[in-house]
Amino acid sequence: DEQMILQFQITLYGDDERLLMARDITRLHRLEQMRRDFVANVSHELRTPLTVLAGYLETYGDMADQLPPRLGRGIAQMQSQTTRMQNLVNDLLLLSRLEIDRGGQDDTRLDPATLLDAVRRDAEALSAGRHHLEVVVEDPRGLQGSEKELHSAVSNLAFNAVRYAGEGSRIVLRWRAWGEGACLEVEDDGEGIDPLHIPRLTERFYRVDKGRSTATGGTGLGLAIVKHVLLRHDARLEIDSRPGEGATFRCLFPATRLVDGQPQPATQRA
Ligand code: ADP
Repeated sequence: DEQMILQFQITLYGDDERLLMARDITRLHRLEQMRRDFVANVSHELRTPLTVLAGYLETYGDMADQLPPRLGRGIAQMQSQTTRMQNLVNDLLLLSRLEIDRGGQDDTRLDPATLLDAVRRDAEALSAGRHHLEVVVEDPRGLQGSEKELHSAVSNLAFNAVRYAGEGSRIVLRWRAWGEGACLEVEDDGEGIDPLHIPRLTERFYRVDKGRSTATGGTGLGLAIVKHVLLRHDARLEIDSRPGEGATFRCLFPATRLVDGQPQPATQRA
């Protein structure tokens, strides 16, 4: 357990001079690990009290017609804030778990068409008919990865499209593959994003418009979760957008993640 972690850096000067630097980052690494464990523990501990609160509030909410109106409104407010806190705690826990273990344990051959259809149904529920959602599958091959994690990544992208693209927008969930790779993408024709913000979008709690994001029910952790899920799949997120011209979020996988034939459960893997 008492391993030392060293970071090496080689700098080239001209043709034949090299500078080698070694840095002891053991302490830094340990602190980083402590931060992750702390966030995971706190999030986990907060879940039970929040569940209890939400339970009582639901009971009182059902009795709203027997209560004075002011009290009824207060309970509705407490309910929505408790839900927000639960979403935040769940996302924090998910994110710190993604950072802590290395992934790959529940990898399976998954069928992108099934995954995208499931996400579309959830996004349609959130949209409540205000957007046109569509699934396009351009390749018959499957993808090797964690169904649960990739479902959560693509859901985050699709929910964002519903939240930010505005009423009447068209949202396309697409799977395509080619020689060197494959891509799960979510495209919308909404307002788009200023290029200035794009490099920072995957940072925790980074938002283009803080007030609006909070009102839409986001936790500010969605794209950070997407980024970490993709890292565990040798994949990366590409964001392509121009103001007024919509946004495309692409999850780019290497060809090594492509699989032929029908999806199979993890337990039947060779
Ligand atoms: P949240 O949505 O909870 O604020 P995210 O990490 O999911 O957090 O997204 C970060 C920010 O990226 C959002 O606040 C929003 O400003 C911007 N964003 C994400 N998706 C889109 C989209 N499809 N169109 C426009 N802006 C987007």
